[in-house]
Amino acid sequence: MHTIRGLSSAPMQPKTETARRLALHVERLRACRRCPQMNPPVVSGGAVVSRVILVGQAPGDKEPVFGRPFAWTAGKTLFRWFHEAAGVSEAEFRARIYMAAVCRCFPGKKATGGDRVPAPDEIQNCSGWLAGEIEILKPALVVPVGKLAIEQFLTPQKLDAMIGKTFSAERAGHRFEVIPLPHPSGASPWHRMEPGKSLLQQALKRIAAHPAFQQAQGIGGR
Ligand code: SF4
Repeated sequence: MHTIRGLSSAPMQPKTETARRLALHVERLRACRRCPQMNPPVVSGGAVVSRVILVGQAPGDKEPVFGRPFAWTAGKTLFRWFHEAAGVSEAEFRARIYMAAVCRCFPGKKATGGDRVPAPDEIQNCSGWLAGEIEILKPALVVPVGKLAIEQFLTPQKLDAMIGKTFSAERAGHRFEVIPLPHPSGASPWHRMEPGKSLLQQALKRIAAHPAFQQAQGIGGR
């Protein structure tokens, strides 16, 4: 694994064809009931054509109610990060970045409290949806949020060794850059203490300056 610079040169398909394929993909995703232990409905951010994909872990119990990912407290923190680092509002972010996740359904609560971590077979089941999104969108940048999401793309390491850096990864026959973020939930204090605080700022700066993110926000050339 190594840090790289530059934007993937993979050609984007004509927008209408990409939009059509993505809309069909999201329609099928919303109908998925493959994991018996998961709680429907599937949570999707919608068919947003973008060369930036944000990958969360799994929805909590509020996201199905609001019908969108990162709809509650962790989302408030996440969108505040992007607003402060890149001047992007939550509405702009949702309209311009494709929001995926390791698992798209609420896993339920653990008997001891807190959300159940998706099982390996559920992660495997849902990985096909993510691979399909990468195949359709051919992203230049993927932003995994939280350890479970990061580990789908990068070899597990301590957050200190991963946050603030840019990596290269490949999925569905497509290579792209990966800039990981810590999970914004209050469960871990990592991003509120040094070196996490500074590394988080470095990561956000890298995302904000990435050509694909700027293009998605209408800042760079198309
Ligand atoms: S977690 Fe993913 S694979 Fe499992 S039922 Fe939900 S959408 Fe389908």
